[in-house]
Amino acid sequence: MMMNEAARHDADQEALILDMLDRFLAVEVQPHVHDLEYHDKYPEAIVEKMKEMGLFGCMISQEYGGLGLSARTYAKIIERISVVWMSISGIINSHLIMAMAIQRFGTDKQKADYLPRLASGELRGGVGLTEPDCGTDLQAIRTVAVRDGDEYVVNGSKMWITNSLYGNCLALLVKTDPQAQPRHKGISLFIAEKGEGYTVSKKLDKLGYRGIDTCALSFENYRVPAACLIGGVEGNGLQQILSGLELGRINVAARGLGLSQAALNEAVSYSQIRKTFGKPICEHQAIQLKLAEMATRTQSARLLVDAAAHAFDQGQRCDMEAGMAKLTATEAGFENAHEAMRIFGGYGYSREYNVERLYRDAPLLVIGEGTNELQKIIIARQLIERNRI
Ligand SMILES: Cc1cc2nc3c(=O)[nH]c(=O)nc-3n(C[C@H](O)[C@H](O)[C@H](O)COP(=O)(O)OP(=O)(O)OC[C@H]3O[C@@H](n4cnc5c(N)ncnc54)[C@H](O)[C@@H]3O)c2cc1C
Repeated sequence: MMMNEAARHDADQEALILDMLDRFLAVEVQPHVHDLEYHDKYPEAIVEKMKEMGLFGCMISQEYGGLGLSARTYAKIIERISVVWMSISGIINSHLIMAMAIQRFGTDKQKADYLPRLASGELRGGVGLTEPDCGTDLQAIRTVAVRDGDEYVVNGSKMWITNSLYGNCLALLVKTDPQAQPRHKGISLFIAEKGEGYTVSKKLDKLGYRGIDTCALSFENYRVPAACLIGGVEGNGLQQILSGLELGRINVAARGLGLSQAALNEAVSYSQIRKTFGKPICEHQAIQLKLAEMATRTQSARLLVDAAAHAFDQGQRCDMEAGMAKLTATEAGFENAHEAMRIFGGYGYSREYNVERLYRDAPLLVIGEGTNELQKIIIARQLIERNRI
């Protein structure tokens, strides 16, 4: 089939970016992962390089200084990063969810004021949704914003907020009308820059996903300008952030895919080196069955991630596609990490090998960006919605 000129240009641009990314990962990331991860150190030098490469603006439109890449290319970037170190992909994920909320729903002034600085990485964003008492049921949030002249006064707390220590702003989900029914009509989304009353209370110590900052936050009479209410109208916050989470779920799915591929790579390689009973373990059928299942899971995940990213690029509602990709790819990452651990035997349990890190990183993916139980509910609801009789 002949490629048209625009498609060829996109393919060439994608190949260039992925090539540059591979070199960056091999030279600037891979050699440092063990040290940064083990000591839970923030990868500052890597972040600076990511800014130079334009990764903070990779999905932001060129009009605002971003690279304007498609979600399909973005998913490939995240997959490759996650083969090497999944934590790095989290640095741009919630940053871009925030940027997409502004790009899709912001006023012209909000877009002009924030998108160029988010694209360059001068502003580093995140999303503040989860609270100590609620994550899945976002409509139960209790952080409130009360209008006071040209400002809103925010009080409440947030939990598990990634990029909140080293970043400088958040897309902050609050209740502007706590009594509203249905509850979502009282929810709004703000661009919240750090300032008085906005406190990072604690950096959380995590099982995996180390190196990157995830924190508890508190807001005490924190004042945010009314001009920072995304879209300028109260009550649209839940819909705005849920739309952004479609991209977030494609990101997490691509991370699951990368992790699944990393575990497979480790297993394929180690099983040819390790010998038992006079032959490499890859020649034992029990190991071959594992490798075959791991490879098939990885490839199935890859196809679903690409399908979800394609639907996103078409501007379609794609919560079902993103949910399927997230569910399949993150379960693939989880299962492959466990299988790689078994194939490595005792060495899998050593902190000297990557498999141990993959095993600790994988569970986050089945929880974050909406648990996989929630993904099943979303898929089922859309299935009925799209097939009403
Ligand atoms: C490392 C890390 C980073 C994170 N980063 C961010 C971030 O940057 N920003 C942010 O806002 N949040 C972030 N989160 C929070 C994350 O999104 C939530 O943990 C997640 O959405 C689940 O919410 P919860 O922990 O409150 O679990 P809960 O909502 O309390 O759920 C507990 C269990 O109940 C199940 N459950 C809940 N409701 C239903 C239902 N209706 N039917 C069936 N089962 C159900 C869930 O699937 C889960 O198994 C992060 C979390 C972690 C661990």
